[in-house]
Amino acid sequence: MTITLALSKGRIFEETLPLLRAAGIEVLEDPETSRKLILTTNQPEVRVVLVRASDVPTYVQYGGADLGVAGRDVLLEHDGEGLYQPLDLNIARCRMSVAVRDDFDYAAAVKQGSRLRVATKYTSIARDHFADKGVHVDLIKLYGSMELAPLTGLADAIVDLVSTGSTLKANRLVEVERIMDISSRLVVNQAALKLKREPLRRLIDAFASASPK
Ligand code: ATP
Ligand code: MG
Repeated sequence: MTITLALSKGRIFEETLPLLRAAGIEVLEDPETSRKLILTTNQPEVRVVLVRASDVPTYVQYGGADLGVAGRDVLLEHDGEGLYQPLDLNIARCRMSVAVRDDFDYAAAVKQGSRLRVATKYTSIARDHFADKGVHVDLIKLYGSMELAPLTGLADAIVDLVSTGSTLKANRLVEVERIMDISSRLVVNQAALKLKREPLRRLIDAFASASPK
């Protein structure tokens, strides 16, 4: 019985390694030096597949992987069923925030009821946030480098992930609202959970005990 775990390269892979180790699983290849997308482990029945962060829920939903690790941001933007989310792993922690140019008076714009142009990769989270506040927005979908949008006049504000705030600062942007805290979660294919109950349970339990509090 093979268990396939979907991870994205970078922080999610790095921060999942200690959890795998706690479950007795060592990944045998380094994604930073290998070009392989399927990584073997010291357990012949466990393998890791490397996919884009935003593709993890899709792989797990359709059974391309039995389980995976995905950010709350990615999970909120992904609409799909068939995903069981048993565990917040408390890794890859950051926050989703609204940021503007340091010379833009966001509070005044909101108070005046101005229509705001907001650039983001996270259109669903942004739409819900501004609807809750009763602020009218035109959302502009971007796929990266959100910080550039207010600097070029493409948008008044951005909705993006922030951890230390140094990228915002380097681009003369300020965080004006925190929308939510973000961390990564374990997602499991529901059919796999039935068919591979024992090994998946063991893995989920080991992850639960090893994840940071
Ligand atoms: P891609 O690079 O494929 O477009 P991505 O930029 O979303 O995807 P990562 O930067 O590896 O991929 O982020 C993966 C997840 O890590 C995000 O979905 C988010 O939950 C979390 N994350 C992103 N940025 C940070 C950060 N600065 N600090 C901590 N966690 C973060
Ligand atoms: Mg990134």
